Amino acid sequence: MIQMGKPLLGEEEKKAVLKVLESGMLAQGDEVRLFEEEFASFLGVKHAIATSNGTTALHAALLGHGIGEGDEVITTPFSFIATASPISAVRATPVFVDIDPETFCINPDSIESSITDRTKAIIPVHLFGKPVDMTSIMEIAQKYNLVVIEDAAQAHGAQHNGVYVGSFGTGCFSFYPTKNMTTGEGGMISTNNDQVAATIRKMINHGSEKKYHHSCIGHNFRMTNIAAAIGREQLRKLERFTIQRRKNAQFFSTHLHGTTITTPHEDKGHVFHQYTLRVSAEKRNIVLSHLKEKGIATSIFYPLPIHKQKAYNIHNHLYYPEAERAAKEVFSIPVHPGITEQERKYIVDSIKEVAK
Ligand SMILES: *Cc1c(COP(=O)(O)O)cnc(C)c1O
Repeated sequence: MIQMGKPLLGEEEKKAVLKVLESGMLAQGDEVRLFEEEFASFLGVKHAIATSNGTTALHAALLGHGIGEGDEVITTPFSFIATASPISAVRATPVFVDIDPETFCINPDSIESSITDRTKAIIPVHLFGKPVDMTSIMEIAQKYNLVVIEDAAQAHGAQHNGVYVGSFGTGCFSFYPTKNMTTGEGGMISTNNDQVAATIRKMINHGSEKKYHHSCIGHNFRMTNIAAAIGREQLRKLERFTIQRRKNAQFFSTHLHGTTITTPHEDKGHVFHQYTLRVSAEKRNIVLSHLKEKGIATSIFYPLPIHKQKAYNIHNHLYYPEAERAAKEVFSIPVHPGITEQERKYIVDSIKEVAK
């Protein structure tokens, strides 16, 4: 079976974890500090703050910008639920804006008509590793004085016009094992804003700046030294991983061109967290069961848009046609750096058997 993803962990990660175990300093400490410094320098931002996962990164970023009850936050309905749930967790309201069918990301042209007096922030998602058009997003944000929190959970190293995502607004990354780099569970927030960074540091650590003194009610969203030690090694390998993902994607796009399957939007800054294709809704099951028979794993990201989830029943009546159509037509194939050249070719040949 060719799997959808697998973390690539080597001797370096093993050694780094052992070193932490031998030090006895398992929780937050020097490794976390170094990982933050290295991640900030990689992105070219002033501050990087490590968290327990990508969801808590988004949660803390919202708190860092003072977003809460009564506020509206504009985002996409076509993402993992963790894009929206932190908005609800801080008691703000997610306002969904439909996607651009070409990019699967929020359509910047549809944002302005959803802005109200209560709108405080936009959370664009660089879905599947495809950078959102941040030029348009930042223009809108400036015009209406809105905060931008980038959900870059799937987009480590992705660039818009040569600039790393996560450095336009406040960036949130995830290091879950299926992501482009991993720490097991883990997350990171990037920002150039000193005040926001200070608030986030406090909020992820029990509202405390001085030990056992708490100026507000916070959380424990801290990363461990064990996770950070893995993350530091993974960050060193990220560029190699990205090159391999892009090579795999390029191969697929070249060889699937001219079939009945639509290949992803071309973009030099794309880091292909997922390689996501679309096919007519009637045909998708045929393609997926054929690939399963051939021993090739596939996944549907995402079969149900967020506004259609039971958890968001107050939004269930809303209609976002492009998100809903994408949910019926998309499927993703293995693109991770662990697949071989033969597997890549086998995947293309297998798809072509059902999608001439
Ligand atoms: C993975 C992911 C998250 C959440 O990250 P976790 O580390 O799993 O909490 C948020 N948004 C998107 C788009 C994701 O893919």
